[in-house]
Amino acid sequence: MRSPSLLRAAGGSLALAAIAWLATAIPPAAAQSPSPAFYTWQAPGGQASYGQKVVALTFDDGPGIYTPQVLSVLERYGVPATFFEIGENVASYPQYTQMLARAGYPVEDHTWTHPDLATIPLSEFPYQIDQTQREIASLTGIAPTCVRPPYNAWNQTVLDQIAERGLTTMSYSVDPRDWSLPGTQAIVDAVVGAAFPGAVVDMHDGGGNRSETVAALRR
Ligand SMILES: [Zn+2]
Repeated sequence: MRSPSLLRAAGGSLALAAIAWLATAIPPAAAQSPSPAFYTWQAPGGQASYGQKVVALTFDDGPGIYTPQVLSVLERYGVPATFFEIGENVASYPQYTQMLARAGYPVEDHTWTHPDLATIPLSEFPYQIDQTQREIASLTGIAPTCVRPPYNAWNQTVLDQIAERGLTTMSYSVDPRDWSLPGTQAIVDAVVGAAFPGAVVDMHDGGGNRSETVAALRR
């Protein structure tokens, strides 16, 4: 196993390495800044404060059957993370969305059916974004403040639709492609090798077999 000094210092655990770096979870950008985060250079995301010794773990496409395992690893090590959930999965596994919210993990909006937002008609945005907002808010009592467009696909219309709703958006800067099942070690290496202060790491707790993601978190 590759052993960067960060990991060595943290006892060889990816989760512990994240603790060492993570000072805070991602602040909701809407409350912080009058200009939406996606107008920064790292459009459409990047509010994870460059220059700070912080990496942000994010999980997409849940909730699903692996969500409780992901949550339990994060909780065991006290690691903050943000979950971008698909509305129809929230409807299927409402108890897992509530479990995350009760544990204090932000649940954000990843659309209702995971389409490429850059290609859908304007008339479909309420279904994709607003319905997901309502579903999550009704279960957790907290409306999402951030929309992550699926496939990192966005254009000006997508950004405008999100901004019109007073929401922010967020991309990611480290993509270990855990969804492609590259192997647990490959996920760990990709995250640790590419992480930098301010990095936003994109992983998945839903959308398929996530056993490798769960195993990588335990390292
Ligand atoms: Zn996704």
